Amino acid sequence: MENRQKPEQSMRGIQISKMNAAIIVSSFLLYILLTATAIHVSMTIHDTYYAMDRYFGCVQLENLLRSGTRELTEQVRLYVLTGDETYRDNYFQELHENRSRERAVQYLGELGVEGDALKHLQAALEQSNALVEREFHAMALVALAKESPCSTLPQEVQDIDLTAGERAMAPEKLMERAKELVFDAEYQNARLEIEENVEDSLYALNDTTSWRMEQGYESLERAMVVHQALIAVHFAATVIGFLFTLRLVVLPMRGYVKAIRERRNLREAGAYECKCLAHTCNVMFERNQAHELQLRHQAEHDALTGLLNRGAFDALQQELSAQAEPTGLLLVDVDKFKQVNDGYGHEMGDRVLQTVASLLSEHFRTTDYPARIGGDEFAVILTNASPERTAALQAKIETINHTLTHPTGGLPVVSLSVGGAFSQNGFSEDLYKHADLALYEVKEHGRCGCRFYQGEP
Ligand code: GH3
Ligand code: MG
Repeated sequence: MENRQKPEQSMRGIQISKMNAAIIVSSFLLYILLTATAIHVSMTIHDTYYAMDRYFGCVQLENLLRSGTRELTEQVRLYVLTGDETYRDNYFQELHENRSRERAVQYLGELGVEGDALKHLQAALEQSNALVEREFHAMALVALAKESPCSTLPQEVQDIDLTAGERAMAPEKLMERAKELVFDAEYQNARLEIEENVEDSLYALNDTTSWRMEQGYESLERAMVVHQALIAVHFAATVIGFLFTLRLVVLPMRGYVKAIRERRNLREAGAYECKCLAHTCNVMFERNQAHELQLRHQAEHDALTGLLNRGAFDALQQELSAQAEPTGLLLVDVDKFKQVNDGYGHEMGDRVLQTVASLLSEHFRTTDYPARIGGDEFAVILTNASPERTAALQAKIETINHTLTHPTGGLPVVSLSVGGAFSQNGFSEDLYKHADLALYEVKEHGRCGCRFYQGEP
């Protein structure tokens, strides 16, 4: 009984609410992991792109440095070969205004180039600056050969200290010497070293960038694998969630609908909530059935005596009229019952009616149907009864009358008048009429007795 009232205490099973909470939490965790890997992928792509972008930027700047040094060499050589001051001006324009080499090194520093790449670049710049000194020297020699006024010379050329030997040289010799300075093996080697340093810097930069890009691709690959694994986990979790819902909720619910339609108990299966629902429905169903039985009993039985009432008697009569079985009917009336009520009171009258009812129930077979069909009127439908039973029935009534006329427990003396009849074809239309006629005869002949209808006189 306690189990019926508090099913949740004894019932086991997965709770839908907890299952939902677990699904939400795991979905949220998966969402966080997916978002984290997506952010990681995006950052990796960004880093890789940045590394490539920086690499191309660096290549351009190193070309700028290279072209700056080449430009200086080219202009100084042309000046030395031709003596045309335009080339000298071009040289100083590159040196002071364009400043390609310095700008290149500065921007490379700003791009974050470091390590070997920067070292090689700085070395290239230093070597280039050393060559510049040599170039000034060559230009000073040319200026002397051309006897250019000192004031027209750039400051750097004016500052060159020519040796006494150089000052004493003839113009042709001076031009020869100047050419040597910017064309000889030493100058060529220094230029080659600058080129090599720039190349080495590019290699170092290339290595760093390649390494970064490799790292980026590896990281990207790993992130993609994790991403795919998480998506697979998410898909598997969705399928498992679907199967759980199907097994714990959908299938039990379908079973419940079927059972309710078929008016039978629900099988307690599935999730905890479903089991509770089934349990509660079963309790309600059983209570309802008991209530229905009670209502039916109340509708069919007489409240005072507990026998079938008039309605049930009529229904039974209707039912038996359809069956072609030999049937008997006894109509029973309490003799002078009014006097009991008048003499002993209504309550005593009720007790008498209850006593008559219990005697009828007691003396007839369980296959016979005693009923109270009026105030002090009773009837007994006898199934499978033929006239051979007449004597036995009369004996029964005599016994009952004997009991009633020798009462105990303070009951007044009462007796019964009983009229009976039989039918070969179930509860025929005439059966009641014939039994009533027989009862009338008993009443006419002094009451307290039992007669059976013998046919029309
Ligand atoms: P008779 O021998 O001719 O049958 O005389 P009678 O006095 O029994 O007359 P009748 O059968 O007509 O009387 C039935 C009486 O039963 C009338 C009514 O007051 C009484 N009665 C009907 N229902 C009840 C009941 O539930 N309880 C009690 N105590 N009396 C009832
Ligand atoms: Mg009566």
